[in-house]
Amino acid sequence: MNDSDLNRLLKVASQARSVAVLTGAGMSRESGIPTFRGADGLWKDFRPEELASPEAFQKDPALVWEWYEWRRQIVLKAEPHEGHRVVAAMEQRFPEFLLITQNVDGLHPRAGNEKLIEIHGSINRARCTKCGSRFDLGNRMLSDLPLKCDCGALARPDVVWFGESYDSQLLSASLDFLASADMVWVIGSSGMVSVPVYLAAQAREAGAFLVDLNPEEAEFSRYCDLKIRSTAGAALPSFWNALTGGRTE
Ligand SMILES: [Zn+2]
Repeated sequence: MNDSDLNRLLKVASQARSVAVLTGAGMSRESGIPTFRGADGLWKDFRPEELASPEAFQKDPALVWEWYEWRRQIVLKAEPHEGHRVVAAMEQRFPEFLLITQNVDGLHPRAGNEKLIEIHGSINRARCTKCGSRFDLGNRMLSDLPLKCDCGALARPDVVWFGESYDSQLLSASLDFLASADMVWVIGSSGMVSVPVYLAAQAREAGAFLVDLNPEEAEFSRYCDLKIRSTAGAALPSFWNALTGGRTE
């Protein structure tokens, strides 16, 4: 990041009261987590599109559960990186803060974020297909799949699948926050999925200062006030040290 960009960032951040951060797969990739899309997501010769859908689950719930459990074990062995830690520190610093993540791996809550919306759900949670109860899956490897709820019905991973719509309450809570945010970061999102693009455009419309922190130019980059062509793990700690004088918490 050059000095002029850093100075602009520091000026906006030091005056910001309300800050939102949107994160996508790039954030997790820096912790060594595959995107589970395309060739990156191959498992037993299945493509993710063949497993992450209501139809696939209906056809073979045990197979879908095994795939999620394989992914979950990868995720549990990964650790949040320095970029995750800065996003957690942001929550402590700004009077109003919201993290909206597309990532289902739970690395943000593990880094300490509590004010967060997991817009695609969480791989560490299950949801009953009948009574709707949600439960944490814990750290142990699950056997005896597919998982059942206490009510006896089949439970499913609590994630948003291909062909499913977002939880409307979570989406409207995200939009409400973005409507009054001073500063919005879009981090590690390729723009392939339209929700960050949509949310970022709404925030810009409402007057937020938009920061695009991505190694590559994305579809929504043209809406952004400042573009940083780097990764979260590389750029966020230097920004944070400059803002806070070296303190990370
Ligand atoms: Zn149930």
